[in-house]
Amino acid sequence: MFEDQEQLMPVLFVGHGSPMNAVEDNEFSRGWKAVAGKIPVPAAILCISAHWETKGPYVTAIENPGTIHDFGGFPQVLFEVQYPAPGNPALVQEIISMTRENAILPDQRRGLDHGTWSVLKNMYPKSDIPIVQLSLDYNKTPQAHYVLGKQLFQLRKKRILIVGSGNIVHNLSMVDWDMMDDGGYDWALEADSRIKKLITEDKHTDLINYASLGKEVQMAVPTPEHYLPLLYILALKGARDKLSFFNEKAVGGSLTMTSLVVGDM
Ligand code: ZN
Repeated sequence: MFEDQEQLMPVLFVGHGSPMNAVEDNEFSRGWKAVAGKIPVPAAILCISAHWETKGPYVTAIENPGTIHDFGGFPQVLFEVQYPAPGNPALVQEIISMTRENAILPDQRRGLDHGTWSVLKNMYPKSDIPIVQLSLDYNKTPQAHYVLGKQLFQLRKKRILIVGSGNIVHNLSMVDWDMMDDGGYDWALEADSRIKKLITEDKHTDLINYASLGKEVQMAVPTPEHYLPLLYILALKGARDKLSFFNEKAVGGSLTMTSLVVGDM
């Protein structure tokens, strides 16, 4: 792998859903593991998670980022999870210099949030692959997030796995926990399939302007943070990249786990 200079590392969008997926052996955690087994082993990982929003963009810059338990009301076993993957100061410097006009700053304290470790713990359980997180700058427009995503493209030539972690349909206020195995509300399924169709057709402008996609999508994306990581992954798609969806399922009525590999597997 990567003998051909033109070879690109796949990029990945994951619907992360409940933090319990970190410790449960279920169809979603198995879906993530299966992808890890099919793509090249990354030299390092850059993750853009819904759970780190900042004023101005930051990257995690410490050598040994901690495991942040950024949730409440879950069993003790989840608070005991540690994912001691190392950081990667060289990658941090590279990201900062390749996106210079964005003035990304290094954060010397921040660890890894559950949007990152709940997924990567399943994909790379040995926690031996260095991880850097890029925050979501809440001052940026969706278009500006997309443009920043494009600036990271060269990392795909260096065996860096870029992961966007969020959920395409994510309306927590409407979740019905009695519906965990019973799929999604009609509007949630409609929004998910509408967005999937636009992804398949490379209609990125429509996806950037998601607020204009109608009532169902507005209900699916009541706040931007779980949707925006998807725009980074779409921005990183090359002309010849294939698209492979997986974990295409709704849970709790108003969440979809729909995930996407861009590139060869
Ligand atoms: Zn989340």
